[in-house]
Order: sequence, then structure tokens, then C-alpha cells
Amino acid sequence: MLGDILQQLSTLTLSIKHSCRLPRLSGFLPSSLPSPSPTVAASQVPGLFREPYILSGYRPVHQDWRCYFLSLFQRHNESLNVWTHLLAAPVLLIRWWANVGSLGYSFDAASLPLSVFLASSFTYLFFSVAAHLLQSHSEHAHYLFFFLDYVGVAVYQYGCSLGHYFYTSESAWRDSFVGALFLPGALFFGWFSCAGCCFAKYRYRRPYPLGRKICQVIPTALAYLLDISPVVHRLVTASWTQEPSLPFHALQIASFLLSALFFSCPIPERFFPGRCDFVGQGHQIFHLFLSLCTVFQLEALFQDYARRRDGVVEVFGERQLWLACVSILALFLCCILTAFITMKHMNKKLQERDK
Ligand SMILES: [Zn+2]
Repeated sequence: MLGDILQQLSTLTLSIKHSCRLPRLSGFLPSSLPSPSPTVAASQVPGLFREPYILSGYRPVHQDWRCYFLSLFQRHNESLNVWTHLLAAPVLLIRWWANVGSLGYSFDAASLPLSVFLASSFTYLFFSVAAHLLQSHSEHAHYLFFFLDYVGVAVYQYGCSLGHYFYTSESAWRDSFVGALFLPGALFFGWFSCAGCCFAKYRYRRPYPLGRKICQVIPTALAYLLDISPVVHRLVTASWTQEPSLPFHALQIASFLLSALFFSCPIPERFFPGRCDFVGQGHQIFHLFLSLCTVFQLEALFQDYARRRDGVVEVFGERQLWLACVSILALFLCCILTAFITMKHMNKKLQERDK
């Protein structure tokens, strides 16, 4: 059904400049506004853009940048990758305001990790939308926007860690070896997963060897195992009936594991080549489960925050709360720097290839 809606939106966008039925809307659009070119088959775009088992629906490269922005309303094989993360942002905002209304919220040191979690979620959603919307412009754009996508994921991982540490963790877990090293570890593994993904994209070409998956999946999996450890500890030690956040934590883990499955395997398109070009690709399902995971995290963290907000500053101290939360800016800068350094090397590589 969403595919039909996108088809209709696409038709509307392409005809909007010439439409005499919509004089008021077209009046707002400059007459020089370009129309996105029709989509093409996989064989008509460079190999870098071809996804396994996706045979059509590709946007041609080297169009005007505005065509890629306008392709938001065009039916192409990235449409649902864009919309699944674009619509997740208002859903998060709606759930945020609903929880503020029912559980209460005041902006202070105790609520800082929750606010940073929300900001980190918007960061990854924004970079993901930008990557899927704009990457088709050129090979340079493809690499740059996906490197930035990895920056967004690293920032989000650390944002989750802050929530898990300050609102969800038990004191017994914080006294353990993992608990003592958790925050610096989460910072390091956040950067490490970004660096691993950037390196894998820089280093490997299609058909991708196993080494690419190792560079991408191992650092990300290590980061996740660390980030989720306080949640797992609480799930196995606390009573589910007395703590309303625990079912949401269980759901966030289930959603993440399902998202990881669809991220790693090109299913179901592997079994139906060409049939999932617009709707039903594994990457779209991965986006859906990751968005669900974020929504469940927000619900769980809000419940934990409501339960612990009065004691958070007393337990951790205002200084540690601020330091841990402000560190996300340092992580963001390190990851951006890593992305741009990798992009510089990628540019050199592309220039040498084109000589
Ligand atoms: Zn994606």
C-alpha cells in the first residue's frame, strides 16, 4: 500500500510544475525546479550502486542535487529506506511528549542522559535519511554520505549507553569490572565501530569478501554487547512484574536482534530477485526493526528515568553526569574526523582509478 502511495506522490511531483489544477502549489515552486529522471535498471548505474537481487528502481547518477531531494516523493528502490527512518522521528517525538505528559520531565542534570539519548536518535535517523536520499548522486556522494551514516550510528550507540548506565543499571553491575570501564569503553567502541565500518567501505569492492563483514560486524557487535550489558544484567536479576520498563527492554533487544539479522542477510530479496525492488527488501525491514528498537528504548528509558530521577544525581554526581553526556560531542568530532580522513583517502583512490 505504501508503494502505491509513493507512486502517486511520484506522479504528483513530476507533474506539479505543469499542473494547472494546482495553481497555488505550483506557484510556490520556481519554474527552474528540475524533475527527477525516471528510475533505471541495475545495469544502467555503476556497480557501486547495485544492490544484490535488486534489479530495478535505481535513480540515475549525476542529476542535479535538487532531483535527489525531490526524489523523496519519487518511487525508487531507496524510497522506503528513506521514509522508514524519516517517519520514525515524528513517532519518537509523539512518544516523547506522551511520556513527558504521563511521567513528567524537567531539564536538569538528572534528565540529561535521556535528552542526549533522544538527540542521538535524531542524529542517526537524520544521517541515514541523508545517505539513502542523496547517495545516488555520484560515487563521491555515496561514500561521503555512508561514512556520515556510520558517524550517526556511533553517536546513537553512545546515546543508548548513557541511558542504560544512568537509568537502567544496578549498583551490583556498576561495581563489576565491566561496569567500572563501561563509559570509556562505550566511547571507544562507538568510535571503533564507526572506524571499522568506514575502513570496510573504503577497502572492499563488490562482490564483498568475508573480510568486509568482519570489519563491520565485529566492532559493532562488541559495542552492542557492551552497551546492552547493564540491561541484560537487570533483565535476569530484577522482577519483571514490578518494573514496567523491563518488557520494553526485552522488546528493544528482540527488535535489535531482528534488525541485525536483516542487516546481515539480503532476505527476502535473495529468494525473489527483482520482486522486492521497491517494497520488502531486507534493508527496509532492518530500518523498521531498528526504528522499533529506538521507540522501545525510549519507552523503557523514560520508565527507568521516572523511577530513578530523584536519586540519579545523588548516586552519580552532577559532574559525572555532565562529563559523560558532553563526551558525546567529543565522540561525534572524532567520528566526523575519521569519516573525513577516510573520505580523503577514498577521493585519492577514485582519482587514481579514473586516470
Ligand atoms: Zn540504511
